[in-house]
Amino acid sequence: MYRKIGILGGMSPESTTTYYEHITRSYTARFGDFGYPEILIYSVRFQQFVQWQKQGRWTEAALAMADALERLRLAGADFGLIATNTMHIVFEEVQAATRMPLLSIMDATAQAIRAAGLQVVGMLGTVFTMREKFFREALERWGIEMLAPASDDQARVNSIIYQELCRAEIRPESRRECVGIIEKLRTAGAQGLVLGCTELPLLLSRHDSPLPLFDTTLLHAERALEYAIEPGSYC
Ligand code: GLU
Repeated sequence: MYRKIGILGGMSPESTTTYYEHITRSYTARFGDFGYPEILIYSVRFQQFVQWQKQGRWTEAALAMADALERLRLAGADFGLIATNTMHIVFEEVQAATRMPLLSIMDATAQAIRAAGLQVVGMLGTVFTMREKFFREALERWGIEMLAPASDDQARVNSIIYQELCRAEIRPESRRECVGIIEKLRTAGAQGLVLGCTELPLLLSRHDSPLPLFDTTLLHAERALEYAIEPGSYC
């Protein structure tokens, strides 16, 4: 059997479904059959995590995620994904608190940027992902510089994520605003743009963007598929 994939999802549900769709569809497109790896999804109550984020109660969030991942492991998952960029703010703490091996969304993204030969990328995501240092430092470990939007643009992107995209609302005017912010990042020197929120691909595609896009949702999901089926996992 292939390695079984455990997805810690629900943050938000709009992107959790993309992981499931991508892994299953990508496998079938590649191999022509329905033999994709087994997938377990643990969907949390997102509201609780939104409150912890607002209050900066990251340790509680980390412990709750580790608990959910342990449940996935006991249910048979061989490795896990935290299906949100923002909550990777406590990736190390979560990994230290669970025996489930985790694949990082930041490493999957950095590998793709390196493979494309870029050194400077812009970042769109929640305020936590754009402002705090966890994603920036992860990219720096791969020799990649991250540019964040100005703080008023950060606030606007953050609002679009939580008030619209996490509620399945796709608005053309918000798309235009985000494209304007990407244009500013391009002018500031970005060679590519990280869609550093797992819902942003619902709003922005490569046809909209003046910069090449790095879709963290698809990169993370694809990395999971690769790891699940890699030689040696099938017995
Ligand atoms: N899914 C989003 C992300 O990738 C934001 C939702 C959240 O986890 O707060 O950052």
